[in-house]
Amino acid sequence: MPLFIGIDDTDHPNGGCTTWTSQILAQLIEAAGADILERRLVRLWPFAPRRTRGNGAVCLVVDTDNTLTILEVVNNWFNSLLEELKKVDSSSHARPGLVILKEQYSDDAYWEAVRHEVAHSNLVENMSNCLLYLHHPEGKDGLIGALAAASWMPKESFTWEAIAWRIESRWGSPRKVSSTCLELLEEFHPDTFMNRDPTRGHGMISPRSPCPVLFGIRARTEQSALAAIEEILSSRGVESAEDYAIFKTNQCSDDHLLGPLKITTIMPPRVHRGGHVTVATTSEKGPLLIRCFKEGGDLNNAVAALEPGDIVEVLGLQSPDGELHLERMRTIALVPRNLNRPLCECGVRYRSSGRNGTLRCKECGSTSLRRWSAEIIGPSGWVEPSADQRRHLAKPVDWMGSID
Ligand SMILES: [Zn+2]
Repeated sequence: MPLFIGIDDTDHPNGGCTTWTSQILAQLIEAAGADILERRLVRLWPFAPRRTRGNGAVCLVVDTDNTLTILEVVNNWFNSLLEELKKVDSSSHARPGLVILKEQYSDDAYWEAVRHEVAHSNLVENMSNCLLYLHHPEGKDGLIGALAAASWMPKESFTWEAIAWRIESRWGSPRKVSSTCLELLEEFHPDTFMNRDPTRGHGMISPRSPCPVLFGIRARTEQSALAAIEEILSSRGVESAEDYAIFKTNQCSDDHLLGPLKITTIMPPRVHRGGHVTVATTSEKGPLLIRCFKEGGDLNNAVAALEPGDIVEVLGLQSPDGELHLERMRTIALVPRNLNRPLCECGVRYRSSGRNGTLRCKECGSTSLRRWSAEIIGPSGWVEPSADQRRHLAKPVDWMGSID
C-alpha cells in the first residue's frame, strides 16, 4: 500500500536541510523493510512569510505492507528530530511538520501552497484526511508545506533534481567541487540545466550555506539526473558524498504562476526609480497591476514599451498585495505606433493643409486625402527574464513548443 509522507520546515540558520532530513527518514523506512517509490521536492510560494531557506518541502512515496511499523518508525524519527533541534536550534527557527496520506484525495492543498499564502485556519479541515500528522510544539507552520508536498500529483510538467549530501564531519567547511564538473555537465549531459550562471560564469550547483547539501543537479529526465550525478561523484576533485538521491520536482513547471492571462494595458507604463516597471491593466477578472523588475532585462524592456490599448498575454507570480510579478509575456495585438502623416511620392511628408480636409506637400504642391500612417507591430513570441535572473519556477521559453 502506498503512503505519501510530506515533510517541511526542518532547516535553521545553523544548518539542516529538508532534503537531508528526509533522506535519514528514507533510510530508516528502507531498513524497516518498505520501499521508497519516489522522492519529491516541492518548491512553495516564494512570498510565503515564514519561508525556509530553499523554500522546499519533501514527499516520500513509500510502498509498504506494514503500515503500523512505518508509523512507528516515523513517530520515533520525528521525536528524535525535535530533540536534536532543541540542541542546535535553540530559537526554534525550524518548526517541522509531517503529514502522512494513505491516498491523495485532492491536490488542492498543493495548489494553494504554491500560488498563495495559506491561512492556518484552512489547515484544520485538511488534516482530517491524514493518516498521521505531527508538528513542532511551537507551531504548525511546517504542516502547510508537508501537506502540499504529500498532496502534489505530478502530471506532465515536472523536472528532476539529483542531490548529493556531505559527510557530516565536513558540514560548514568549504565544498570541494571542481569547476571541471560544470564543463562535464555542459558537454556530456545536455538534459541537465541551470548548472552555471550564464552572466557571471560561476557554478550554481553548490549552495553557499552551511547545509548538508554538497550539490544538486537539475535535469529534464530522471535518467539524465542519475547519469550526471554518478559521473560527477566519480570524478576527480570532488569530495566524497555521504549519500545521494533523485527527486522529482516542481521547479520550472509553471505551477507557481498565474496565467496565461490576457490583459489590456490601460495606462502608460511607469518606470520607477531603480528601473522596475509597473503597468495598470485590465483582465477578464478586473483591474490588475503588473510589475516587472529591472533585472528582467529583455522582459523589462518589452513591458516598458507597452502603450495603452495593447493586448498581451502574461504569466507571473501573484504577490501578497495582489500584483502580478511578471515571469513571461507575449504580445497579441498592439495599438498602431508612430502615428504620422504619410509620405508624398517625392519623399517629403504631407502636412495638413487646414482646409478641405486634405493633406498638402510643401515641396511639390501635390495634395492627398486626409489620413494617417502608422507602424503596425505583429504578435511576438514569449519574452522572459535573462537566464541568470529566473527564479527556477517558470518554464524556460526554449522548452516550449513553437505552437505554445
Ligand atoms: Zn511632394
